Amino acid sequence: MSKEYETVIGLEVHVELATKTKIFCSCSTAFGGAPNTHTCPVCTGMPGSLPVLNKQVVEYAIAVGLATNCDITKNGKFDRKNYFYPDNPQNYQISQLYLPICRNGKVEIETEAGGKKFVGIHEIHMEEDAGKLVHDDWGDCSLVDFNRSGVPLIEIVSEPDMRSADEVIAYLEKLRLIIQYLGASDCKLNEGSMRADVNLSVREVGATEFGTRTEMKNLNSFKAIARAIEAERERQIDLIESGEEVIQETRRWDDDKEYSYAMRSKEDAQDYRYFPDPDLVPVIVSDEMIEEIRSRQPEFRHEKMERYAKEYGIPEYDIAMITNSKHMADIFEQTVAICNSPKKVSNWLMGETMRLLKDKNMEVEEINFSPENLAKLVALTESNTINSSVAKDVFERIFTEDIDPEKYVEENGLKTVNDEGALRSTIEKIVADNPKSVEDYKAGKTKAIGFLMGQTMRQMKGKADPGMVNEILVEILSK
Ligand code: ADP
Ligand code: MG
Ligand code: ZN
Repeated sequence: MSKEYETVIGLEVHVELATKTKIFCSCSTAFGGAPNTHTCPVCTGMPGSLPVLNKQVVEYAIAVGLATNCDITKNGKFDRKNYFYPDNPQNYQISQLYLPICRNGKVEIETEAGGKKFVGIHEIHMEEDAGKLVHDDWGDCSLVDFNRSGVPLIEIVSEPDMRSADEVIAYLEKLRLIIQYLGASDCKLNEGSMRADVNLSVREVGATEFGTRTEMKNLNSFKAIARAIEAERERQIDLIESGEEVIQETRRWDDDKEYSYAMRSKEDAQDYRYFPDPDLVPVIVSDEMIEEIRSRQPEFRHEKMERYAKEYGIPEYDIAMITNSKHMADIFEQTVAICNSPKKVSNWLMGETMRLLKDKNMEVEEINFSPENLAKLVALTESNTINSSVAKDVFERIFTEDIDPEKYVEENGLKTVNDEGALRSTIEKIVADNPKSVEDYKAGKTKAIGFLMGQTMRQMKGKADPGMVNEILVEILSK
């Protein structure tokens, strides 16, 4: 009889912070500059250069710590993690081992199955990112770009509390939303501003001790994470079932081949010869500083969800979708503040906005039309100044170019024609020109009216009030 196994997972999540400058120098953190243009003696590890801590990094780390129910370390410090690698010019990374800025936190997750549970946060520490190696395609060499060297990171280390890919993704989603709401990072897995290393072991159901774990790197989408977890679980179970042992090691996941391979055996902290960085003063955090950061914390998602239900009375589905992005929620609230029609604004965001984002392969965070223009569009439809098909076209212009819909409708003559006389004469002409359809309609093929409607709308260049057209048509046809 085959045994039953439980998967045990703990995550180490690196998040690039959204500061303008690096953690220990004033170089820009902007992504995509020409290689080695955002560099100075500090972030290229020149002898004699000295690091100076960026206060904003500490503030972001504390904000994330408070939002994840951590204790804040008031007397912390930085340590050197020594290792040799060409993208690491100092031959050590400045990180925190002994006294990380945050400890003992927890976040609540909701799984797809509807369950709720807490995932413990062991610690959050601050550290610097490394440079990037560029493996030359044409020459037989590798080049190094230090633009990323010294970009601030926080590493969020969870307890081994997760038991499935589902829980892992719920946890990552939760962290992503907290950090995005704080504005501390954009948390994009595909661009590397959020990176998750998955530590995984298996054990027989009922066992009290954890099994030996492996750590998987290079996971840059939720789908890759789910696939990697499934494959690693199977691999470890196969080893155990065939009497072999799981080796504690770091493995690299290849998502195309759906296979992981050993990268290196796992280092222990002692392999890094950590010691306190003598170039940096201790990180002293006052109660006042913590309280000030606490008072600046934004309204988080679950709070927003509750308020939306009370204040706007829109369906739960809409609320979940809108609050899934702080940026979307901001647009929603600002638009409603102007036009006061929550459900209509929500419809534009969930319908056309999502459709256009998908069409144009864009992210929600890239939406950049102004709430004023969406509010004006809602007003134009509520007053029946334009009909719904014209409104869709106008919205697309708002979405792509942020045009002023009032001006646009005026300049392009898009107002709905509800001059009954003009409509009636157009319809009479169309009815006279299409005797076959009229005959069909009278013979009971009511669908024929759709064709006549279409002809009329076309003649009116889409600007007629469809309700009115229908009414007049029915009236004329039933004569
Ligand atoms: P290190 O600092 O050497 O990488 P830690 O003990 O701090 O190792 O743990 C790193 C991560 O591995 C943590 O997220 C932790 O929850 C997870 N972890 C530790 N032991 C196990 C285990 N047996 N199975 C799965 N995950 C584990
Ligand atoms: Mg580790
Ligand atoms: Zn620099």
